[in-house]
Amino acid sequence: MSTPAAVTLSAKDYKTELHPIWCPGCGDFGVLNALHRALAAQQIAPENLVMVSGIGCSSRAPHFVNAYGFHTVHGRALPIATGVKEARPELEVIAVGGDGDFFAIGMGHLPHAARRNPDVCCIIMDNEIYGLTKGQASPTSKLKLVTGSTPYELVDQPINPIALAIVSGATFVARGYSGKPKELSDLIIQAMQHKGFAVLQVISPCVTFHNIFEDTKAGVHDLAKEHNPKDKAGAIKLALEGNGMEIGVFYKEERATLEQGIAYQKGKAVGAAPSRKSDMSELILKVARDEAVLVKS
Ligand code: SF4
Repeated sequence: MSTPAAVTLSAKDYKTELHPIWCPGCGDFGVLNALHRALAAQQIAPENLVMVSGIGCSSRAPHFVNAYGFHTVHGRALPIATGVKEARPELEVIAVGGDGDFFAIGMGHLPHAARRNPDVCCIIMDNEIYGLTKGQASPTSKLKLVTGSTPYELVDQPINPIALAIVSGATFVARGYSGKPKELSDLIIQAMQHKGFAVLQVISPCVTFHNIFEDTKAGVHDLAKEHNPKDKAGAIKLALEGNGMEIGVFYKEERATLEQGIAYQKGKAVGAAPSRKSDMSELILKVARDEAVLVKS
């Protein structure tokens, strides 16, 4: 895994000996290729990269990237990725998975990661279906979709991933498409280089259970050039009024990261450290007094 500093890495250096067992034509191949390219473009040392995933077809991605990987349990990529980042802030941390993983069983974690703002890049491969379990409706499936679990048409409204990420507090929110690997690679680079929680939704069709390649190919288009990604209200409006096929950066802001917040708390705790255990209540009072001063000033 160790890489001599002088060696220039190419995209193939980020591949592993494992061949993805995704169905031929699966959109996830395009995402993986874009990721390999993005890593090479940034010359990320494999020993400084951690890939964390949940469960699902796309969550197999860490097996196919030359880096440290943690294929965790269903829906739990974000708390684990956050823990890795807080323990080792110098590492690059990427959380990957699908729409089922992030928006159903893992939904409780996404808004909290967004408001905490850890410097984690979250890549969501959205195929609007549960592929691994053979084609049930997912939280991003469109109304009226007929699947094994919705034989009489889906009647639930789909989640809007971009709007959800922005209103939850994510500081970088973008959408890409697996069929445009060069553009997707550029978006992955931007998401990784952003300091804070970056959400990148990637349209990544499942050719076996819900093949939306043709519709996506015909409909996908760049965000309007005049869109200002610093305009939060404008970004939310775009996310709500768009057709889900716009690709590019919807929203971006600078805000203190969770790592900076924890460093701040550590500084306060050390400055107010009690000399004896029984001083703990005094410490709590002191921190409370300091907070009151902070709020006033
Ligand atoms: Fe890809 Fe669908 Fe096959 Fe899963 S079932 S590998 S999402 S094409």
